[in-house]
Amino acid sequence: MMTPDQYFTAVPATVDMNIRSELYSTNEFTFAVAVILSAQATDKKVNEVTPDLFRVAPTPAKMIALGEDGLKAHIKVLSFFNNKAKSIMGLAARLMDEEGATNTDYKFPAKFHDRDALMKLPGIGQKTANVIMNVLWGAPNIGVDTHVFRNAHRYGWVGDDANTPEKVEAALLSKIPAKYHGIVNHVMVLHGRYICRALRPKCADCPVAHICTAPDKTV
Ligand code: SF4
Repeated sequence: MMTPDQYFTAVPATVDMNIRSELYSTNEFTFAVAVILSAQATDKKVNEVTPDLFRVAPTPAKMIALGEDGLKAHIKVLSFFNNKAKSIMGLAARLMDEEGATNTDYKFPAKFHDRDALMKLPGIGQKTANVIMNVLWGAPNIGVDTHVFRNAHRYGWVGDDANTPEKVEAALLSKIPAKYHGIVNHVMVLHGRYICRALRPKCADCPVAHICTAPDKTV
């Protein structure tokens, strides 16, 4: 079995480590909004609507001014846009109670730099909180999206009983050395999106093809 050490020694050199997320955002508030919008939607699709949205609503205050119907008009091409609009308006309303709600350079108050505190905010579940903590503040959480989930199983790093994102995260945190935790999500998402894809993985272009023993390896 390919070990996490072998994987995380080779693969980061082949993905862009400068960008921490492919989601477009302009500040910490709009990043959180983009992550909420990305549930059941590709980053590419989200990025088609967010530049216009964030031009008019880059802060919690401006999002409230735009209103739920105005927000829906921007995001209606995305799945579950009604629910996502409710979540985002709830988040914006809650952040209006805090400092900085009118700052275009919005930063979450320090008390929210904590997964449990973030998860108390409207619209922010465990996966969203993990991605925010990891991307914005470099926290060693592992956001488990479809790519991380699939490939953690593909590489044999988690057992069949790891059948939820929460269980996969717990298993990965104990399997993967701590020094890699801050980059696990980023590296596995990009490698999973472009090379180690769900269907027809591009093994000929993969930097760990010589050590990979995944059953669906194609070379
Ligand atoms: S060799 Fe193929 S299956 Fe193995 S990690 Fe690379 S892309 Fe994925």
